[in-house]
Amino acid sequence: MNDGLTFNETLYPGLKVSYSCEDILFQQRTEHQDLVLFTNPVFGKVLMLDGITQVTTADEFIYHEMMSHVPLFAHGAARKVLIVGGGDCGLAEEALKHKKLDHLVQVEIDRSVVDFSRQHFNDFNAGVLDDPRFELVIGDGMKFVSETDLTFDVVIVDSTDPQGPGAILFSEAFYRAVHRCLKPGGILVTQNGVPFLQRGELVTSLERFTRIFQDGAAYIAAIPTYFGGHMTLGWASDDATLRKVPLATLEKRFTAENFQTRYYTPEVHQAAFALPRFILDAVEEGREKGRS
Ligand code: SAM
Repeated sequence: MNDGLTFNETLYPGLKVSYSCEDILFQQRTEHQDLVLFTNPVFGKVLMLDGITQVTTADEFIYHEMMSHVPLFAHGAARKVLIVGGGDCGLAEEALKHKKLDHLVQVEIDRSVVDFSRQHFNDFNAGVLDDPRFELVIGDGMKFVSETDLTFDVVIVDSTDPQGPGAILFSEAFYRAVHRCLKPGGILVTQNGVPFLQRGELVTSLERFTRIFQDGAAYIAAIPTYFGGHMTLGWASDDATLRKVPLATLEKRFTAENFQTRYYTPEVHQAAFALPRFILDAVEEGREKGRS
């Protein structure tokens, strides 16, 4: 992973993405994964877990804004939100900008990720851990959703990829357990990879969503460090109208919240559900399999 002055991402066999490393800020084999935080001249601070890029200070805003504001503005009245994963707390910081939200639970399996993020990522997670609405649970997301008696308006799975501790967060059992703790009109959003390179994961997620929810879908965002083109965010709910909220409604809700963004706009929200044909084909293949 680190040959001298570079860190290589090895998520895709046959393909190597190399980041030159200026400084290693933190490196640890935690109880769950290999963790390294280093600085790169282009992307700033880069967090890798088990050799896979998780978040960088240069482009985290794209990912965190699209994973939070799309479900929260689509819902329009979310008060109880669950984040599974999200150890860098950038997603939590974006979600907490929504004034209606009164309880945000974050279930993160690896305390080390949160601890070092508190120190090194306060560029984008400042204030989260001191926000009275925020509750951090250190534990497995699967165990939490299986056992909790809390219910949520929105569940956002900001997980690693389907390997290691993250694998269970892509299982049908996990999605069924999430469905159990979603309130009526609730929305599930998932980190669902780069379909140009991870097509199978999207098909499988849509197959499982379709088996459990009335409406399984996906939306896209372009995140430079998630190499390979558009990234898909999985979407599941029992109300198909939630992903077709009129632009005027999104604009009204966005204006009412009155916070600044650098990627999300109501127009981008709507456009994100317009999938390129090859991604829509993968979504429809998954839906077909889920219905059979
Ligand atoms: N933005 C990244 C991406 O798209 O790949 C994800 C960022 S975040 C760092 C991923 C988090 O998921 C990590 O902190 C990891 O520890 C956490 N995680 C992995 N498996 C988990 C599980 N079973 N339960 C809770 N958290 C988990």
